[in-house]
Amino acid sequence: MPSRRNVLKKGLWLTAAGLFTGMHIANAAEPEAGKTPPGHLEPPPDLFDSQSLDIEFWVKPRTLDVIRPATGEHTKLLYWKDGDIQESAYQQLCHMLRDVNGKQTAPIAPKLLETLWATQAYVERFGMTQPLQILSGYRTPESNRRLIEEGVPAARKSLHLEGRAADIRISKLHEEVLGGLIRSFRQGGVGFYYRPSAQGGWIHTDTGLQRIWKG
Ligand SMILES: [Zn+2]
Repeated sequence: MPSRRNVLKKGLWLTAAGLFTGMHIANAAEPEAGKTPPGHLEPPPDLFDSQSLDIEFWVKPRTLDVIRPATGEHTKLLYWKDGDIQESAYQQLCHMLRDVNGKQTAPIAPKLLETLWATQAYVERFGMTQPLQILSGYRTPESNRRLIEEGVPAARKSLHLEGRAADIRISKLHEEVLGGLIRSFRQGGVGFYYRPSAQGGWIHTDTGLQRIWKG
């Protein structure tokens, strides 16, 4: 994405460090020892840096292939073509990213969909065609509050409440690689949630300030 953002990056991170006390800024390029579950793919050498992408990548039609593990829903939609969002597909994607607990749908930021699409389209170039798993998209204030009460990592003023954040996973792709790639798009915040379970952890991506953290 536009490299002019690079200029601001450092300043934004410093600002973010002040604003988001409690979240610590970590260097995601340094994997912690013993955190890589066996069986996960090694990243192709340039997987971390999307800045090498040419304009052709960004102007081609965009198809998103997403799955909601919580409900078992799966959809693959061409949602953007010739510079325009395709309304019906967009509505369906908003539905896929709805609050499945609070049973509410809200508009999802097109910029967030762009990050999700770009992530998927990028790894597809390396033969990884598995759908993108949406663990959480939009959240109602009630659902978000309940998560906090249950001890699930969630911020009180989460961008999930504004349809500007998603928690995602791509099977067989380590969080370090997925988060590193999303970070390289320089589109907003990236949270790395490492978990030792069989499916691994997840990555939080949002369209807010450029910042990274481990949760
Ligand atoms: Zn999140």
